[in-house]
Amino acid sequence: MDKRDYYEVLGVSKSATESEIKSAFRKLAKKYHPDLNKDDPTAADKFKEAQEAYEVLSDEKKRKQYDQFGHAGVNSSAGGFGGFGGSGFGFDASDIDLGDIFDSFFGGGFSGGFSNSRSSGPRRQDGSDVLRRMNLTFEEAIYGCEKDLELDVVEECSTCKGNGGLNSKTCNKCHGSGTITTEQHTILGSFLSKSTCPDCRGTGKTYEKECPDCHGKGQVKKHKTLTINVPAGISSGDRLRVAKKGNPGANGGLPGDLYLEFIVAEHEYFKRENDDIYLDVPLSITEAILGCKKEIPTLYGTIKLNIPAATDSGDIQRIKGKGVDNKAKRSKGNMYVTFKVVTPKKLSREQKKIIEQLSKTDLVDSEIERFSLFTEKNSKRI
Ligand SMILES: [Zn+2]
Ligand SMILES: [Zn+2]
Repeated sequence: MDKRDYYEVLGVSKSATESEIKSAFRKLAKKYHPDLNKDDPTAADKFKEAQEAYEVLSDEKKRKQYDQFGHAGVNSSAGGFGGFGGSGFGFDASDIDLGDIFDSFFGGGFSGGFSNSRSSGPRRQDGSDVLRRMNLTFEEAIYGCEKDLELDVVEECSTCKGNGGLNSKTCNKCHGSGTITTEQHTILGSFLSKSTCPDCRGTGKTYEKECPDCHGKGQVKKHKTLTINVPAGISSGDRLRVAKKGNPGANGGLPGDLYLEFIVAEHEYFKRENDDIYLDVPLSITEAILGCKKEIPTLYGTIKLNIPAATDSGDIQRIKGKGVDNKAKRSKGNMYVTFKVVTPKKLSREQKKIIEQLSKTDLVDSEIERFSLFTEKNSKRI
């Protein structure tokens, strides 16, 4: 088979400049690229021919030889062009940015080629999760509670059953197939490309009337009150998942989940650490000295506690099982009572007299004695 003239192949004159040759080749390469012409078996040959012509005419030395001697002047081994695909295109890919070209056609990354451009209707998409904070009193967190939560929930419109329209009919544009085929004339040639029908968004159906309740969206926003069962033993920062009360999905996707994060208020007296409860209990000096039976508030009602004689400030008593009954963790904390001896600020004349009498007696115990010895020793040293 006779070779065509290289200038003819590229469609340029014999006096064409380097850049004219380059741009002519680009156009042909785009037009005949085999990946873009799967239905045209002659494209690969045309591409190969253009590539060969370009390789010669773009090389100053080879072009000179070709001009002088024709095809015989150049050892036309140009190419080594062994098919397209994985191993590259057989020409300097940096010359022609195919990604750019593909993107301009299909509005997305060139991934997996053109066989994927067939449409499969609107994409199902699940809704995203939502995080909401909820304030609890100390007691609500300890005992559990029911809390009402005001929510704006997006739901499927009941009037149109989520279709967005009333009185359905077959889509005129795609005749019910959900996809349309368009012919695109581009620098690479003509393409038939399938895409989702814009009129019915791939459903194949259109509606005579837009739904008046959702204005065609298929979803309506509703204000709802949700009753939340808050389990006993919640701590600040704990989260509770409420399934499917998050943001709505699209095109039949599931709604996301709602996460409630709790913020628990502090109590005036009870302090909580994990599931243990701490309580400071003030004692009068006589209660501390003589010991007593004292009523102590707990999370589960008042109990009577035996306070031994000679109780000091800072002494701690553990009350087993009176901490937080954590249902979620199936554990129960303890309660720790810390005594605090309170010195009376106001004494009657009579009380003062008694205390003065007491002070004249020998009240010294071992701890005070030891400290006196230390004081004495310390004063001698200086
Ligand atoms: Zn349609
Ligand atoms: Zn509707």
